[in-house]
Amino acid sequence: MVVILKPKTSEEDVTKIISYVEDMGLDVMVNKGVDCTVLGLLGDTSRIDPDTLMLNVHVDRVMRIAEPFKKASRKFHPEPTIVKVGGAEIGKEGTFTVIAGPCSVETEEQIIHVAESVKNSGAALLRGGAFKPRTSPYSFQGLELEGLRLLKEAREKTGLPIVTEIMSPKMVEVFEKDVDIIQVGARNMQNFDLLKELGKTSKPILLKRGLSATIEEWLMSAEYILAEGNPNVILCERGIRTFETYTRNTLDLSAIPAVKRLSHLPVIVDPSHSAGMSWMVEPLSLAAMAVGADGLIVEVHNNPAKAWCDGAQSLNESQFDSLMKKMRAIGKHVDKEIV
Ligand code: PEP
Ligand code: MN
Repeated sequence: MVVILKPKTSEEDVTKIISYVEDMGLDVMVNKGVDCTVLGLLGDTSRIDPDTLMLNVHVDRVMRIAEPFKKASRKFHPEPTIVKVGGAEIGKEGTFTVIAGPCSVETEEQIIHVAESVKNSGAALLRGGAFKPRTSPYSFQGLELEGLRLLKEAREKTGLPIVTEIMSPKMVEVFEKDVDIIQVGARNMQNFDLLKELGKTSKPILLKRGLSATIEEWLMSAEYILAEGNPNVILCERGIRTFETYTRNTLDLSAIPAVKRLSHLPVIVDPSHSAGMSWMVEPLSLAAMAVGADGLIVEVHNNPAKAWCDGAQSLNESQFDSLMKKMRAIGKHVDKEIV
């Protein structure tokens, strides 16, 4: 962190600022210029709030040099993190992992049908919501524990590991026992109590980007999980709010190479919630692979027109099969194999 002092700051005031910073456990490199003094703060500056430093009348500007996320940063962990679940190795170079399934678990017949079908098409994991974060309290809220039971049944029948969303810290124990990847939805990306509890487990966590979160805020949420000791975090870009209303959200494709550069964590794309329209899922999925994503999480339903949730953005089973064929073809050009 660099602190630029105002011109004509007295020696006495410079010394006071230096002592203040040193008392916080940092070393200070002093650079006296003709007009002003510049302080280089060395050490763990994550505890220093630039706005608090700015309260000092002699401070002109404060600039952060390092990112506030440390454990999520590629600078301190150059090797990519690979999250192993079942046979999948999410984040491994040259591979691409597809998670597919309905927005929500509805019936035994539905989830088993979709699970078998997406498995045959090449999905490595099954998704399905049991606890649903709905905008309206009057909308279907998910089958909850019965939904989890049905997901486990689908896992038993197909061998596909299961991915499902958690909403409350109270459910961590149950999810830790029953679920293979615990999904944190966009609406809970900054539910810090939930993130801390999940950090105490060793389960893979699929952390979706918040509705209007910056990349830095998203990585800071990952930091909460990592800081508690759980290294198994997978990031998921699912579109963000912009002024555009044509699509449900705007898929921020640029976030994929950005996150890959900033962090060692795997990053996958959810083209379903990004677009909100099933016909757009295929082009967005192909683009996601081309820009370097490590995988996809796609909504697939056996009868989208009758889906209890998010039918408009769900692929039917044959559309998903055809998407997988196209993904394999693109994969050949970008050295990614769907596994
Ligand atoms: C979901 O995956 O069903 C979901 C609710 O996603 P998001 O949190 O991205 O809105
Ligand atoms: Mn959904």
